[in-house]
Formats: sequence, C-alpha cells, structure tokens
Amino acid sequence: MKNIFQKIIDKEIPADIVYEDEKTLAFKDINPIAPIHILVIPKKTIKNLQDISPEDNEIIIHLISTIQKIAANQGLDINGYRVITNIGDYGGQTVYHLHFHILGGRPLKWEVL
Ligand code: 5GP
Repeated sequence: MKNIFQKIIDKEIPADIVYEDEKTLAFKDINPIAPIHILVIPKKTIKNLQDISPEDNEIIIHLISTIQKIAANQGLDINGYRVITNIGDYGGQTVYHLHFHILGGRPLKWEVL
C-alpha cells in the first residue's frame, strides 16, 4: 500500500510544492513546527536514512544540494536553519519514506523530546 508521501509524488493527494525535479520533491509540512518547515524527499522509494545504499549516492548528493537551494530561496542561509531526518520508531519517524525536514525562520532550541 502506498504511503502518504508516495501519494504526493504521484499527485494523488495535493501538497504545497516548493520545488520539484526528476529526482526530488519538496513541499511544506502540513503541521509546521517552525515558521518555515519544508520536507525534501527523493522520488525513489527509500524507507529512511538507514535504508540508503551506496547505489543511492547520487540521489543523496542531489538531495543535499536541493536543500541548499531551497534554504537560499527561502532566505534561510542568512541566519541559519536546521535539517532533521527521523529514523524508525524511537527516532520519531511517522512516514516511512526518506525525508529531510528543513526548519527555520526563528532561532531554534535544541531539545530531545
Ligand atoms: P516524521 O515524523 O516521519 O519525521 O515526519 C513526517 C512529517 O510529515 C510530519 O512532520 C507531518 O506533519 C508530515 N505530514 C504527514 N502527512 C502529511 C501530508 O499529508 N502532507 C504534508 N504536507 N505533510 C504531511
């Protein structure tokens, strides 16, 4: 069964997309925890960071450069921002499709909840 991010990739459910290319999609988180909260995902099905394999190297480098571009477009590169990826149950992962949270727009605290 498709998870929610696969449905967003396949345009079966709407999302507020801020960037898209052949390998990557980025959209606003539906439940933002910071003034800017964007999710960056590969279109390839990868469960989480632990599921990345060496054959994904190019995709991961591309994802990171996409994060840089989005951060600059959003003006986050000036004061800084945070990138988080949650892995598995204890990591707080709720959607099992690799995603990086871009958080910014205000000073962020460091708390492990
Ligand atoms: P995780 O907890 O797996 O690291 O992050 C999943 C994120 O996906 C959460 O921050 C949650 O708010 C977001 N999310 C869940 N469902 C949807 C959805 O249908 N649309 C969007 N845009 N974000 C979603």
